[in-house]
Amino acid sequence: MEFRQSSKLSEVCYEIRGPVIEHADRLEEAGHSVLRLNTGNPALFGFEAPTEILQDVIRMLPQAHGYTDSRGILPARRAVAAHYQERGLPEVGVDDVFLGNGVSELVSMAVQALVEDGDEVLVPAPDFPLWTAVTTLAGGRAVHYVCDEEAGWLPDLDDMAAKITDRTKAMVIINPNNPTGAVYPREHLRAMLDLARRHQLLVFADEIYDKILYDDAVHHIAAAEAPDLVCLTFSGLSKAYRIAGFRSGWLVVTGPRQHAKDYLEGLTMLASMRLCPNAPAQYAIQAALGGRQSIEELVLPGGRLREQRDVAWRKLNEIPGVSCVKPRGALYAFPRIDLGVYDIRDDERFVLDLLLREKIQVVQGTGFNWPRPDHFRILTLPHASDLESAIGRIGRFLAGYRQS
Ligand code: PLP
Repeated sequence: MEFRQSSKLSEVCYEIRGPVIEHADRLEEAGHSVLRLNTGNPALFGFEAPTEILQDVIRMLPQAHGYTDSRGILPARRAVAAHYQERGLPEVGVDDVFLGNGVSELVSMAVQALVEDGDEVLVPAPDFPLWTAVTTLAGGRAVHYVCDEEAGWLPDLDDMAAKITDRTKAMVIINPNNPTGAVYPREHLRAMLDLARRHQLLVFADEIYDKILYDDAVHHIAAAEAPDLVCLTFSGLSKAYRIAGFRSGWLVVTGPRQHAKDYLEGLTMLASMRLCPNAPAQYAIQAALGGRQSIEELVLPGGRLREQRDVAWRKLNEIPGVSCVKPRGALYAFPRIDLGVYDIRDDERFVLDLLLREKIQVVQGTGFNWPRPDHFRILTLPHASDLESAIGRIGRFLAGYRQS
């Protein structure tokens, strides 16, 4: 008897934790030290969880041993609602908030509750690949709209419009963006929302990096720019609050919910089927949103994240034939490799060779549903000196791929 994976998985891919990881594991087992620059996990790079959050979770632990309401505990949902009420969405109530085991679980539930076989969801390219994977798993088709590198990775509005069909149900907006670091100016965001409005699309706004902003970048909450649209906003504690391992996130429903009554019943049913999110981690939310665990000292001039972003961007651009748009938010850089200079045809192979030779693990651009093998994503989380040396090694390694 042979057990095979479901055919539903045949088109699903998730390369951030893809097959290259097994090679990295084997290298470590053999005693090598691997610089893992593949997942945006702040804890791995010395970013500690804020003490106030830990103290609150520890204090509440004795009360966190039972199942909670499927949507999550009331004080946390109240804190999330208040957070958005103060940010241009005064109508948000506790019933509009669903807590989850990270944004990932909620993305999966939100897409599954909506998508019929053959339905299309507009997803950016490059994307955070979970959106494409869960759409495919739900039987839908992720249709990728191009983000324009020449325009600082802003979504190409003409391309978006051209890709909307009768089957398009929803638009995914990832802002600030993973992997590009783009932060969308208000007018551009409004133009995207206008397309959603004209074609009556549900908006999924993934805003998990909403607080990780550099220079003069300002984050605009999509839902607040389009209160007339049904919008699901996703965020959580994995990034700005440095507790990715707790698995704590939320989604907030805004807009004319009466047009989404049936959908929301489906979402509520899926929330009940997973019983409830992990209870102790829910107790982190109130402390996080009510407290002063600011990311600001890390992103202001002189702050660690800002300095690392600067170093990564500068060192990448110093490599001949490599160019990188300056990230304005989030925790990544997404440099371009000029294929006129370097002979790379399979970027997964390139990334694997880099791992085997230099013991540095990055993620290939095609893993983000980017159509050509000419990009990779690197974290800006390591200390500046580690980034400087890693990128120097990547540059020297790349030299071996020079076109003859
Ligand atoms: N959305 C984006 C854009 C991300 O980059 C990530 C994680 O890297 C997630 C969602 C998932 O976050 P969580 O840890 O809350 O599941």
